[in-house]
This record gives sequence, structure tokens and C-alpha cells, in this order.
Amino acid sequence: MRSDQNYLLQAILDNFPGGISVMDCDLRIIFANPAARRVLDLPDSMFVGDPPFLEEIFRFNARRGEYGPGDVEQQVSARIELAKARKPHVFERQRPDGITIEVRGAPVEGGGFVTTYIDVTERRRNEARIEHMAHHDALTELPNRVLFHKRLGEELARIARGGNLAVLCLDLDHFKNVNDTLGHPVGDVLLKMVAERLSNCLRDTDVVARFGGDEFAVIMPIIDGDRDAEGLARKLIDVLGSPYEIQGQEIIVGASIGIAIAPRDGDATEGLLRNSDIALYRAKVDGRGRFSFFEPEMDRRIQARRTLELELRKALSNGEFELYYQPVVNLRSGDVSGFEALLRWHNPERGMVSPAEFIPLAEETGLIIPLGEWVLRKACAEAITWPLPIKVAVNLSPVQFKSRNLVQAVLTALAYSRLPPGRLELEITETVLLGDTDANLATLHQLRELGVHISMDDFGTGYSSLSYLRSFPFDKIKIDQSFVRELTERPDCMAIVRAVAGLGTSLGITTTAEGVETQEQFDRLCAEGCTEMQGYLFSPPRPASEAVMLMLRNSVMVDVA
Ligand code: C2E
Ligand code: MG
Ligand code: MG
Repeated sequence: MRSDQNYLLQAILDNFPGGISVMDCDLRIIFANPAARRVLDLPDSMFVGDPPFLEEIFRFNARRGEYGPGDVEQQVSARIELAKARKPHVFERQRPDGITIEVRGAPVEGGGFVTTYIDVTERRRNEARIEHMAHHDALTELPNRVLFHKRLGEELARIARGGNLAVLCLDLDHFKNVNDTLGHPVGDVLLKMVAERLSNCLRDTDVVARFGGDEFAVIMPIIDGDRDAEGLARKLIDVLGSPYEIQGQEIIVGASIGIAIAPRDGDATEGLLRNSDIALYRAKVDGRGRFSFFEPEMDRRIQARRTLELELRKALSNGEFELYYQPVVNLRSGDVSGFEALLRWHNPERGMVSPAEFIPLAEETGLIIPLGEWVLRKACAEAITWPLPIKVAVNLSPVQFKSRNLVQAVLTALAYSRLPPGRLELEITETVLLGDTDANLATLHQLRELGVHISMDDFGTGYSSLSYLRSFPFDKIKIDQSFVRELTERPDCMAIVRAVAGLGTSLGITTTAEGVETQEQFDRLCAEGCTEMQGYLFSPPRPASEAVMLMLRNSVMVDVA
């Protein structure tokens, strides 16, 4: 029975995947299973004959450099000291070949030791990989936001005793265009190249991270006040702005940078990052490709904007919007050919807020989508109640074209109101034809197929206007009011109006002059052959009920005629 048990024990120890050794009270290794010899890489010859002393093993290891560089006898005696203390111990040994062994020793009755050796290399490697993944961005391998926060916290603690540091928030200009036009794989390559250029610009003491998308951030310990940070910002803008070659294509993207200095602009991670972000926002507004230092005044302005944004979000459900209508007058017949619907926001505290103020914000925040749908529904619903079957014009934002839901929104508005599609006019600006042109043109054609009319609004303020007129058969061109305003003083404005009116005549497109305020402008525009006019000379935009009164009296031309 007993020898059976021994046999069994031997079989277990021989086949056990971990190493096990047993020492007697004189620190002689009286047993070491094959796995122990294997993980420790000890030659079998050491275990032939009399059991080896632990000291011999230590010396053998020290000589072959197992414990790193140093004096062999010192390394041996230090270890023997520990072994003699006979206390339970756990430690990890990093072997020169890269293997990590977890060593656990426990004293046994009678003065000996049982030690286990487990190869934890793979486990430690996985842990390190997970740790790396948790703290780095997978695409660029740069530290991520989590690690950046940690490092910033450490750096801030360091300068608490004196010193400064700069946090630079960086964002690529028009990166979205690269993704949209050349595809995400190209965008990814670009981001990697940006990360590489960034890293090459920095010193070892600086930290650079990618926060996601095209957002990067840098921590820079500074010595010479703002000047160091400014120097780096200039260099980064310069380096990141030079062309990238990807798949045979030359790509140019700029970078904008916001800078906050600790402790001046904040001594906590959140506040500093927020302030450099505010400065970045400023740099972008100022025209991109720039850097900007944080100033407390910026903070106040951004707060004001945030408040406005919050109020705007509530305004739709609170019913604070209304449509005003401005008549469009046909010069040949003298009749009102339609009304343009213009959005008004009655804010309980601010009073009437101008669309020039809130439309850009609504576009940035995406609120323009539900708001634009509301305008469409409301305008159609009101127009169907009018005493005359005239047109209603609705302004569309370029952002609404991105939603891909625009055609459906127009259809819904028409279906609910039962307004004939021919009475709806949609006003777009040149920007719609600037980005995503093919998709937007397809949308325009779909809208056209519904039977609605399409006008080009604010014509002349955009880019290469004439080519846009060729790209889509517009029903109407609205000459921007900036040309009308200076019509009588500036010959160039006159020339543009003349050219557009002539173009309209030859292409058979209606031309509407916007912002007509004086009799003199009116006369000139008539002489140039504009077909329609709109402006304070006839009527400012008015609430729906007053617009209906205007229609009933059909009196807009009274003053002029
Ligand atoms: P817009 O489409 O070019 O509209 C004409 C603007 O000129 C209106 O300003 C109108 O009130 C103003 N206006 C009309 N006649 C005269 C005039 O004789 N003199 C002067 N100085 N101005 C005149 P408003 O209502 O402030 O709208 C400004 C802009 O906001 C509009 O320009 C349009 O781009 C945008 N907008 C207004 N409502 C909407 C909307 O429902 N959706 C979208 N996406 N944009 C809208
Ligand atoms: Mg308009
Ligand atoms: Mg306009």
C-alpha cells in the first residue's frame, strides 16, 4: 500500500506542469521534479548522486548571469541570507531568456522548504498587452485619453512645488473631408502619419496622446513661460501642415491648436483640458491653421453659447418658434407670387432671437434637422390655408442634406398638408453643391421629381457660382442682398446683377432680387430685367395672420406703383 502511494506521488510530481522542489534543513535540494529543472533550466547532472546544496545552485546561476550583472559571491550570499530566514515568500524572477517565473516558498516542519516554480510569462505578457490596450490608442499606438489624464495628474503634482506646464489641444482642419472624399482607410493612414510627425516634434519629457478622431493633445513642461508653448505650437502647425502622400495622392490638412498653461489657467486636469479646448475652439473660429492661448473672456463667451444651445434645445418642444412670411413680388404682373417663410424664435428671456444667431448653432448641434422638419411642416400647413394658391418658399440648410432624410421630410410635409408640390419652393445655398456633391445632386433631383421648385439663395456670395448653375436646373436665382444694397454706389455690384439677370433671361430662370429697400434700387433692378423682388420696400417679414391680410388686400405694390 505504502509503496503504491509513493509511486502515485512520484507520478503526480513527475507529470505536474509546475516545478516543485523540496529542501531539507541544511538547504540541500532533496527533490526537484522535471518541471522544476526545466523552468529553472538546471542541468540534470546537478541532481545525480548527492543532493546539491542550494548555495551551489545560486552560484551556478550567478555565474551564468541569471541574477544580472554584479559580484557572484555577493549575489550568492544575499540569497543564502534570505533562505536561512525560513519565512514563506513569493517573488517573480525574470530570467535572462525573457521567461518570468513565479517562485513560492513555504517552510515545512523539520526545517526544510517546499518551493514551487510556475512559468507566468504568458500571463504577464497578456496582462501587459491588456494594460497597453487600456492606455493606448489602437490606431496610432499613442497614449489615449486615460493615460493622458494620468500623466497630466502626475505632471501637475510635480509642478505643485513650482514650475509651469502647457497643455496643447490639437485638431486637424477639414479632416472629415479626407474621410468623406477619400475613404476611412486613407483617413486612418493620415492619422498615423500625423501621430508620427507629432512624436518626432516632441522631446522625451513631453507627452502626446490621441483622444479619438482627429483630436490630439500634448503636455509640455515649460521653462520660458508662454514662449516655449508658442514655439512648439508654431512648429506643430508648420510640420503637420506640409503635404502628406498617401496612395499616390497628395493630401493637405492643417492643424489648429489651443493652449492652456498650468497653474495660470488651472491646476487640475479637467479644468486645464477644458480651457485648452476652449482656446482651440477660438483658434478654429479665427480661421483654422492657428493657435490660441486660453483667456478667461473666452470662457464666458463659450458659456453664453452653451446656454443658448441648451435653450435652443428646449425651444422646439416649448413651441417658441414661429414662421414669419415675406412677400415676393412679380414685377411683370405686379402680383405677389409667393411668400418666403422665415424662422423666428421668441425666447422668453431674450425676446426675439435672429436666425442669423441661432441657425448656425442649430446646424452645428444637429438641431437643424428636427427644426428644419418643423419649418417644412408648418410652412406647408399654413400655406394651404391661404386665400390665394401662391407659392411658399422654405430655406433649407446644407446640414439637412447630410441627414439623408430630407426627401422623406418634404414628402411628409406635403402629404400632411395636402399642399400641391408645385406650390412649395425650396431655397438652397451654394454650400449644398460644395460638399458631397453627387449625393446632394441626387437628393435635389429626387426633390425635383416630387414636383417642388428649387431656388438658389444668396447667389453670388459663394465660390464658383456659375458652375453651380450648370450642375442643376434651378427654377430661380435669388441675387444676394449684399449686391442690391450697394447697387447704386458700386459699379461692380451693378455688373454682377446685370450678368445674373441676363443669365436668368437666357436660361429661362426666374431672378429674384433680395433686400430691395429703396425706390432707386427698384428702378435699377427693373431696368436690368430682374423678374421678382423681395424687400422692406414692399414688406418686411410678417406673422402668418398679417401675411394673409396682405394677400386679401393684395396691397404690397401700392407704395411702389
Ligand atoms: P435669407 O434666406 O436670404 O432671407 C432673407 C433675409 O433678408 C431675411 O432675414 C429677411 O428678413 C431679410 N430681408 C428681407 N428684406 C430685406 C431688406 O429689404 N433689407 C434687409 N436688410 N434685410 C431684408 P432673416 O429673416 O433674419 O433670415 C436670415 C437668414 O436666416 C435667411 O436668409 C436664411 O438664410 C436663414 N433662415 C431663416 N429662416 C430659416 C429657416 O427656416 N431655415 C433655414 N435653414 N434658414 C433660415
Ligand atoms: Mg432665403
Ligand atoms: Mg437670401
